[in-house]
Amino acid sequence: MVDLRSQYQQIKTEIDQAIQGVLDSAHFIGGPAVSEFQQAFETYLDVKHVIPCANGTDALQIAMMALGLKPGDEVITPSFTYIATTEVIALLGLIPVFVDVDPRTFCIDPSKIVAVITPKTKAIVPVHLYGQAADMDAIMEIANRHNLFVIEDNAQAIGSDYHSASGNVSKVGSLGHIGCTSFFPSKNLGCYGDGGAMYTNDDALATQLRMVANHGQSKKYKHDIVGCNSRLDAMQAAILCVKLKRLDQYIDARRAVADYYDRVLGASEKITIPFRDPKSKHVFHQYTVQLTGADRDGLQTYLAEKGIPSMIYYPKPAHKQGVFDSFNLGDLDLPVTEELTKKVISFPIHTEMDETQLASICEHILNYVNQN
Ligand SMILES: *Cc1c(COP(=O)(O)O)cnc(C)c1O
Repeated sequence: MVDLRSQYQQIKTEIDQAIQGVLDSAHFIGGPAVSEFQQAFETYLDVKHVIPCANGTDALQIAMMALGLKPGDEVITPSFTYIATTEVIALLGLIPVFVDVDPRTFCIDPSKIVAVITPKTKAIVPVHLYGQAADMDAIMEIANRHNLFVIEDNAQAIGSDYHSASGNVSKVGSLGHIGCTSFFPSKNLGCYGDGGAMYTNDDALATQLRMVANHGQSKKYKHDIVGCNSRLDAMQAAILCVKLKRLDQYIDARRAVADYYDRVLGASEKITIPFRDPKSKHVFHQYTVQLTGADRDGLQTYLAEKGIPSMIYYPKPAHKQGVFDSFNLGDLDLPVTEELTKKVISFPIHTEMDETQLASICEHILNYVNQN
């Protein structure tokens, strides 16, 4: 699905130097590489505070802890997402309240949020799925009206711009109270191991996030609240400094791949190409279509035989996963989510794809889809 080796070959000299720099400095945790990345990322996102941490799942968990969410509090989130988003809700003893997604953007449908708000609701966690933003104008309006926190799960849409109704253009992830992201190697801004970050424009929240990520410590050996230990290591930070400079170029490369797929696959009546919301720049973490009247399993098998990977993100919605059995969600009706889990399929997309590869992938897809 991705080609991290070819991408590394393109930037090998700089990456190797960055890693060597960390080895020479012997600052393996914290130190100049981490602060350099933190500042560069703050500038890129145009936010006041970036708080690096160990991975994207931790980022979500620390965000919920820093906001003071307590067991029994309700958190509204989509079920059509990677398990990490909803897992941390359960881990903290919070109650996940699943809302259906918009059939075009695949992100949480704001028109279905108000109906599930109760006095126990504390936060909304929209997920900017596949690289496109949820309807943040509508979500922030609801959150402000009902006094709710918004934590953006921005693991898949880093670098995307959001055009607010007010006319402001801001980076996705910087619109809510806290943005969370992951630097897992295959993400749009990926390191060579695990990594993650939280970001916010709120000074008090930033202090709280830093404390939770660092053993609840306010001063050396002064531990005021329950925290955890979650850090981005210096080698990953040094790698991210090199890759952040290229993020926009990487996004352009992904968008060019998506344009090609759109052009060729859009010709098939059985394929619905991704919707592009004019409010948000799609950064195509995934290129995901919906198949209608074609056998999805068959297509995957056929493509695999030709050496072409494909993936289903996600085959089973969160609310149907065993982890939530105790919440008795059996009757929960999320028709769009259910339908998408049956129809979506994602094709390879990365920064080093060329037209020959794309032409061949598209030819095989159309070959199968048109005959089955
Ligand atoms: C990848 C991802 C995460 C988790 O990130 P990790 O760094 O793997 O912990 C969370 N949410 C979404 C939507 C993701 O895609």
